[in-house]
Amino acid sequence: MRTPWHALAGGFPETRLLASVAEFTHHRDIDALDHSLVLSLAELVPVNSVTLCKRGESLQQPIESMVVCSRKTEGGFVVDALEPPREGDPVDSIVCAMETLEVVSDITDTGDCRLVIPIQRDSSAIGALMLEANDSLDAVRVMIEGFARIYGNYIALLNESERDKLTGLYNRRSFEQRLRRLLKLSRQRARAAVGGEDERRGRDDDSKIYLAILDIDHFKRINDTYGHVYGDEVILMLAQLMRASFRQSDVLFRFGGEEFVMLIAAENENVAHYALDRFRQFIADHAFPQVGHVTVSIGYARITENDYPEIVLDRADKALYFAKENGRNGVHGYESLAERGQLAPPAALGSIDLF
Ligand code: GH3
Ligand code: MG
Ligand code: MG
Repeated sequence: MRTPWHALAGGFPETRLLASVAEFTHHRDIDALDHSLVLSLAELVPVNSVTLCKRGESLQQPIESMVVCSRKTEGGFVVDALEPPREGDPVDSIVCAMETLEVVSDITDTGDCRLVIPIQRDSSAIGALMLEANDSLDAVRVMIEGFARIYGNYIALLNESERDKLTGLYNRRSFEQRLRRLLKLSRQRARAAVGGEDERRGRDDDSKIYLAILDIDHFKRINDTYGHVYGDEVILMLAQLMRASFRQSDVLFRFGGEEFVMLIAAENENVAHYALDRFRQFIADHAFPQVGHVTVSIGYARITENDYPEIVLDRADKALYFAKENGRNGVHGYESLAERGQLAPPAALGSIDLF
């Protein structure tokens, strides 16, 4: 077991600071990193709370996620991931810091001193750190700005390791973590929307996420006819078209070679099917430079929090296998195929490798 630096630090403030930085940059998982950052800061600075906000994609939702570390009345701290508010206090202060890239120092509705520090990456903010305390935080402002910069640099490194080099989509390595996050987010949204009613009743249909696998048809022929460089170009263009066609909130992966995985939020199977089939048709109509027309096959299945991802990947792959066996250039859902009794017998496993 590692000896906590705090135990060795002997009370030097610089050593405690280094210990905190070493502690939170120890994590490779972004959720654990976020959790550790807010806790380290809360332990270092006399505050009532430390909040880490990540920027949302739209004006309607300026903050995507929020991790809050608050002081408990009985002592110590508690860390929670909360559904971020869309407007009002403190959203205005956070948005102001992220837009202007300037520190915001103001007073909260309850009379606390508040400091909001943007977390910058290149020339924009990816989020903000917000501290609330009984007394002025001016004395620690420079130190917190330092933490925000280290966090910004570190998160960029972690994000890079999650991406596929050719297409910039997420890679297979990041799949499980992204899936967990998406399911958590969709559960939080559903709970916020119904005030917790459905959750209490134990309904499981809040989070409707569909997992789809896309495989380019006869890709070997493209490589054989035009060469690998053109093959790679098709993969890259397809990824760009995927990004442009699906919603920002859908999560896209290149799983390897010419296989892609998509996590799509949809109200029901018809909506998911429509979005996937529209993309299939879009690709079939698209003329790729030199190569011309290319088609794709897609299989999908619904995934919930209670499912093992490998099992759902296998279901989507069975639906993809069906598409490949039935003319390619098609989209099939596992549940519908199963209902109609059209699935291949168990021996005919699909092509995707399980974890
Ligand atoms: P199917 O319609 O059954 O999917 O036929 P396919 O020819 O596409 O067969 P399959 O999906 O099994 O094979 C994909 C081929 O893609 C195998 C390999 O030669 C090629 N490939 C895999 N990764 C890459 C890559 O990164 N770049 C290029 N250019 N080709 C790749
Ligand atoms: Mg393939
Ligand atoms: Mg293929």
